[in-house]
Amino acid sequence: MDMNKPKILVATTNPGKMAELTALLGELADAIHWKTLADFADLPVVTEDGSTFARNAQKKALGYAKATGLLTIADDSGLMIDALGGQPGVRSARFADEVDKDADRKQIDRENYEKVLLLMKDVPAEKRTARFVCHLCLADEKQVLLQAEGKVEGVITDKPAGDNGFGYDPIFRIPAEGKTAAQLDPDRKNKISHRADAAAKFKPILRDYLLGL
Ligand code: IMP
Repeated sequence: MDMNKPKILVATTNPGKMAELTALLGELADAIHWKTLADFADLPVVTEDGSTFARNAQKKALGYAKATGLLTIADDSGLMIDALGGQPGVRSARFADEVDKDADRKQIDRENYEKVLLLMKDVPAEKRTARFVCHLCLADEKQVLLQAEGKVEGVITDKPAGDNGFGYDPIFRIPAEGKTAAQLDPDRKNKISHRADAAAKFKPILRDYLLGL
């Protein structure tokens, strides 16, 4: 390991998220000495209680940068539906709050999207527009340094379709692809996702920042 590489903590314990981010950053990822929350014991939990994805990503990045002294990247993402005033938004992970607390991820996902379908049952086709949004943020102990936001536009279907993906993918149809996100090949989804869009915008500003260190 090259100890001269700048160290960056990614505010996740999820190895899948880490692998996705480094893949999206491509060759720039090789110039960084990466850490995740799994490398630290007893870090205080940063609660995601902000009213926007930006606020939550900033709060997480600043909180973990303060706790570790490292440059920290955090993200927050979710689904915004126009006809529901931007809901589920920052509550995307737990929109169906009456779900049994022992429910597994698949069951939580299903109850979340079924709640959306029920709330949208009388909404006509042309008013079913929505987008997945991902906000990425880099902070040090003192301040937010860099931010980028990505999105992918779609419409909410009237019934689920497809078995790939997770979350709201089965009810999110991407007109440009002619498929729901859950019907897309995973490689294709990773190319056009809100996370890919955010990472593509984040990469050049992160490169410039690192060159200036
Ligand atoms: P997180 O911020 O990446 O943890 O995402 C929060 C929640 O937003 C997830 O639990 C999902 O319900 C929803 N979400 C985020 N990204 C996606 C996606 O790519 N497909 C479907 N649902 C998503």
